Amino acid sequence: MSNASFADLALSPRLQQTLSELGYATPTPIQAAAIPAILAGRDLLAGAQTGTGKTATFVLPLLELLMQQPQQASPRPIRALVLVPTRELAVQVFDSVERYGQGTGLASALVYGGVSIAAQVEALKAGVDLLIATPGRLLDHLRQGALRLGQLEFLVFDEADRMLDMGFMDEITALLKQIPADRQTLLFSATCDDNLFALCKVLLRDPALVEVAP
Ligand code: AMP
Repeated sequence: MSNASFADLALSPRLQQTLSELGYATPTPIQAAAIPAILAGRDLLAGAQTGTGKTATFVLPLLELLMQQPQQASPRPIRALVLVPTRELAVQVFDSVERYGQGTGLASALVYGGVSIAAQVEALKAGVDLLIATPGRLLDHLRQGALRLGQLEFLVFDEADRMLDMGFMDEITALLKQIPADRQTLLFSATCDDNLFALCKVLLRDPALVEVAP
């Protein structure tokens, strides 16, 4: 176990308070290792499974970085995108963003397939700082002109290995064409093979490497 505290991780008082209200006493090992690198602006390659605290590992520093540089434009552009393979994971990540993001004033939204696109389009109109999405439905929204990713600053791949297993590589390639190259990218994966390695080479610039045992 790590001996670090959340106070050592340079998170703002707002987030510290939320974590203490949630009863999170100390960061998990992946949080202690990865959050400082993310806050320092590094790309990240993290080998981590569910149950390690991986969601908070990217959600907390994203909220922190978004809060540190508030966006004044109206409507607010999407600044952070979390790509996930499934609707279930999308909902789970969204719940975490809502929970950790309370009181930050940041807005998040969720888009995934299999449900009506109209309600999702409506939710996007109000302006969203952080979007959680499955690749196929996100492309649908982009093709319809319902959202733009031209001002994206942070891109996260959660469970990237499952995204590749599910055959999302074409969607990912199409998405990357609409996302600024000058962004910070974080990639989480439970496993690593040649395909994942190839994706990392395309996505990540000099990433910090963090791996934790399940
Ligand atoms: P995850 O690996 O992201 O699916 O998280 C697993 C569970 O650990 C979730 O229920 C989180 O709410 C919880 N969790 C994440 N970080 C911490 C922490 N530092 N202290 C206590 N619980 C945590």
